[in-house]
This record gives sequence, structure tokens and C-alpha cells, in this order.
Amino acid sequence: MSLKAQLIRQIAVDGPMSLADYMQACLLHPEFGYYATRDPLGAQGDFITAPETSQMFGELLGLCLAQAWLDQGGGDCVLAELGPGRGTLMADILRATKSVPGFAPDVHLVEASPALRDIQRATLMGARVTWHDTVADLPDAPLFLIANEFFDALPIRQFTRQGRGWAETRVGAEGDMLRLGRTEPTPVDALSHRLQDTGDGDVVELCPTLPPIIGEISGRIARHGGAALIVDYGDWNSLGDTFQALKAHQPCDPMQAPGDADLTAHVDFRAVTDASLCETSAMTTQGALLHGLGIGPRAQALAEKLDDARDQNALNQHLAAYRRLTEPSEMGTLFKAVALYPKGAPPPPGFEA
Ligand code: SAH
Repeated sequence: MSLKAQLIRQIAVDGPMSLADYMQACLLHPEFGYYATRDPLGAQGDFITAPETSQMFGELLGLCLAQAWLDQGGGDCVLAELGPGRGTLMADILRATKSVPGFAPDVHLVEASPALRDIQRATLMGARVTWHDTVADLPDAPLFLIANEFFDALPIRQFTRQGRGWAETRVGAEGDMLRLGRTEPTPVDALSHRLQDTGDGDVVELCPTLPPIIGEISGRIARHGGAALIVDYGDWNSLGDTFQALKAHQPCDPMQAPGDADLTAHVDFRAVTDASLCETSAMTTQGALLHGLGIGPRAQALAEKLDDARDQNALNQHLAAYRRLTEPSEMGTLFKAVALYPKGAPPPPGFEA
């Protein structure tokens, strides 16, 4: 039975389901889940992420983590990534930080997809890597962590304000079609603080698994030291419907083919900051962060190499990738970043106020 047929049957028994339950099934169902069963990244896939765009992204963020490690006195630590995709970002981090004396951490990856774990194993051949199902399983140790486009894949609940209540978006069924609908409005405790800054008809999204995950990460950083860099598309204080489906680089109807399209929602960086048990930097943009970390000179040095090699194709691709990562009309401002770090330590480079 297809995932769609299973969901329709489940809705017939239990009634309409929350967007969170729908996203969870579509993305991670063991047999049909979008991530569980395939490699969705790259030009042939459904979307391209920053590390798949250019090696510069991982190099600069890796050196940022290594500098935070040096600033905190070095020592044993864990290098971790959430949702590592093809392992490209971690491979770039390990290559760039090879020359940092004494920085030789074990690598810990949190990855739910068996298909992507296989690809990561191949990409990271030669490194000491341990995989985990959840963030709670990471070692309780000094933690240097990166998460790029991980939190946008976590299931969200979505609410529309009506008076002082909230109508929740639900997935129901009509015949053999899945349809979005809404509950009657009711008060929602977790949204009481949003009554001040929203009005009738405003849409707000909540990611129930985000606070416990940030709690696990920031608790380790507060207890043992470390730093976490969180990069994703999103903004400060969720407002508006950001639930979307992507297939072959094009937006599509999220109800159309469950399990066959990527489903995401923008990350609320205020929720990240509110859940943090350690210091949290101000939110910055990906463009400002990469410029702060020196992407200009790094791009220039790589361009000169390609120019010397008279590889015009590679040079054009490299310049396009630089623009894609940094320019406001591309990923430069849509993508945001925050850093978590211990009280008393300097913020990681690029995250200074
Ligand atoms: N960070 C990578 C890939 C982003 S795609 C990059 O920038 O290229 C999202 C990644 O998160 C995939 O590896 C996916 O399998 C993983 N993922 C999604 N939901 C997850 C969950 N709940 N737990 C663990 N991994 C998850």
C-alpha cells in the first residue's frame, strides 16, 4: 500500500492529522519516507545546499569551529553534525582543519536516513565516525557542532489566529485526495506570548522538537564548552505560512505525492535562542557570516588557481557559486545563522555583535 493510501486510512480512523505528523511520515517513514529512501541532493535531485554549492562553505565554517576550539583552550572534544546529507560539509571541515595543530576530534553524525548514512560512510572514508539516531545520544563532552538545513526538515505545527484562539492546520482526506483544513480555534498555551504581536488571520508555526534538541546541544556546551553553528533559511519570530514542498528544484503541492517531495518550513531563530541554555549570538545572515569569515579572499585565491589552470568553465562555476552563497538575491540574506557558545568565552568568529 502506498504512503498516501496508508495516510488516508489512518485519517479515516483517527481523524485529520497535524502537519507535524504528516511531515514526519512523509520525510522519515521507514519504507516510503523522502529522506529514508533516497539521496535528494544535487543537480539531479530536488535541491542544492550550500556545501553542495561550494567547498568554501565547509572550509570557512570548519575554521570558525576550530578557532572557537582554540579560543577555549583546545583539548579533547567531539565534532558533530546534524543531518549531514552526503557528508560533503563534514569532509570540507575535516580537510580545512587538518592543519590546525592538535585539532583531531572524533566525528559524530546524527542522521535518520539509512540511505544517506551509506553515502556519508563513503564520503568520510578514513575518518573516525560514529552515527546516532538522535541528538540525545551524542557524547556528554565538549561539543563543536554544525547543522546546515537540518532544522528546516523538522516537523512543524501551524496555527492561524482567530480572536484570542488559534485554528490548527490539519491534513484530512476527501475520497482519494489529501486536503488541508483547519480546526475550530482554541487557546494554545505555547502561543500565549504571540497574542501581543499578531492579529486576526496571522499564521504562526511551532516546531515541537526544536526546543529539546537545542536543550541537548546547549546543555553540553554550557557544561563542557564547545560551540554550535546553526545555519538555515528562516527568520526571527515565526510569522506566515512557510510550509512548502520542493520536487526537482520546483515548488509543488505538499499534499500531492507524500514521500516524493521535500517538505520544509522556515526556522524560527527566536525559538532557537529562547531554548538555549548557553550564550547565543545575535542572528546574522549567511552572506554577512561568510564575508566575516573571509570568503572574499578565499574566493579570490581559488579563482586565481583556476585562472592559472586556464579552466574557464570551472572559474565561471566557482564565481557563480560565490554569488549564490553570498548575494542577497540568492542565499545571502534568506539564510540566517546563530552560534551557541559558553558563558565567558568569546563568540565564534563571524558572530561578534
Ligand atoms: N546538511 C546537509 C543536508 C541537508 S538535508 C547539507 O547541507 O547538504 C537534511 C538532512 O537532515 C538529511 O541528511 C536528512 O536525512 C536529515 N534529517 C532530516 N530529519 C532528520 C531527523 N529528524 N533526524 C536526523 N536527521 C534528519
